Amino acid sequence: MKKQIAILGSTGSVGTQALEVIKTHLENFGVEVLTAFNNPELLISQAVEHKPNVVVTGNDEHYRKVFDALDPLDIKVYAGSKAIEQVLEMESIDQVLLAITGFDALNPLLSALRNKKRVALANKESLVVAGELVRQAAAENRTSIIPVDSEHSAIFQCLMGEGNNPVEKVVLTATGGPFRGMDSEQLKRVTPADALKHPVWKKMGNKVTVDSATLMNKGFEAIEAHWLFNLPPSRIEVVVHPQAVVHSLVYFADGVVKAQLGTPDMFVPIQFALSYPDRLPGKLPALDLLQVKHLDFEAPDIKNFRNLALAFEALKKGGNLPCILNAANEIAVQAFLTGQIGFDRIPEIVESCMQTVNFIRKPSLEDYLQTDRLTREKANAIVKRKRS
Ligand code: MG
Repeated sequence: MKKQIAILGSTGSVGTQALEVIKTHLENFGVEVLTAFNNPELLISQAVEHKPNVVVTGNDEHYRKVFDALDPLDIKVYAGSKAIEQVLEMESIDQVLLAITGFDALNPLLSALRNKKRVALANKESLVVAGELVRQAAAENRTSIIPVDSEHSAIFQCLMGEGNNPVEKVVLTATGGPFRGMDSEQLKRVTPADALKHPVWKKMGNKVTVDSATLMNKGFEAIEAHWLFNLPPSRIEVVVHPQAVVHSLVYFADGVVKAQLGTPDMFVPIQFALSYPDRLPGKLPALDLLQVKHLDFEAPDIKNFRNLALAFEALKKGGNLPCILNAANEIAVQAFLTGQIGFDRIPEIVESCMQTVNFIRKPSLEDYLQTDRLTREKANAIVKRKRS
């Protein structure tokens, strides 16, 4: 039996790679649903190739174009975010791959879980901002979340077969990004083009590539690990490992450390998230240790890359602070990419929002939406103020 997959966010980096995985294993997977917000042309060509039952354009403006192209092929076409949530009720969907970027992924994720779908989760923001709601929805509906992010996929794999054995700690590895080793003076002068040259992971989107350069990405991943694996902040650590061969590690009570290693390519964790609990043949050559030769590890530089420390602060205090962290960072990164602020100003803006936006200890979904909006306003105001 083929596993029928719904890919939410099919035209992004993870979505397109997931379709590559499916193309490599046509005997194992079928595409039941494709959804995308931008890039209707790519959405149409994906649908023509993979023949899903249903296509949803999140953006209403593209409806006519997508409908006209796909209606003759007997593919149902819908539009709007409500439609995305409704198609998740389809019995024929065995698994959902959630590859939408940003906070907009939260509602579709909650819908997928309420419909008892197993979810391969590539979106970070939903867990960073509202991890508690997500974990609750998964538990109440007795369904599971399979992480797609390489570090969490590594931890997930290290935990397979461990039952209730307590975890001493997890260590997330970070490449350190393109600016590893730079001091604060050098960091003031780096450009968006410099930040977009990631040393190892080539096919990522711009936002996450900048987040890798500031180490915010690793901070988000620590928050994700907290919710995915039910670990207190004190049991989550970050180590810089430039080769990105060790994808993360788990320490157990008896001193045993399990790690997952492999060639750094998102194809692998995406494939595993879709095939779990089975393993399918890989596409890449296996890791050659004699070619890798060295595995280096060093402590992260949280003095010059303050975002990582800010993220841990948000994780420890909880409430709506991770939501503030995420929204402020998104505005700051956007302002950096468009040349409005320097690289060194990103953590400044994040910290300033964390200090000034109202703290809420037990936020509701409504509180999160409000916090997100207020923080974006505040961050935008800081960007503008400093420019004039
Ligand atoms: Mg990652």
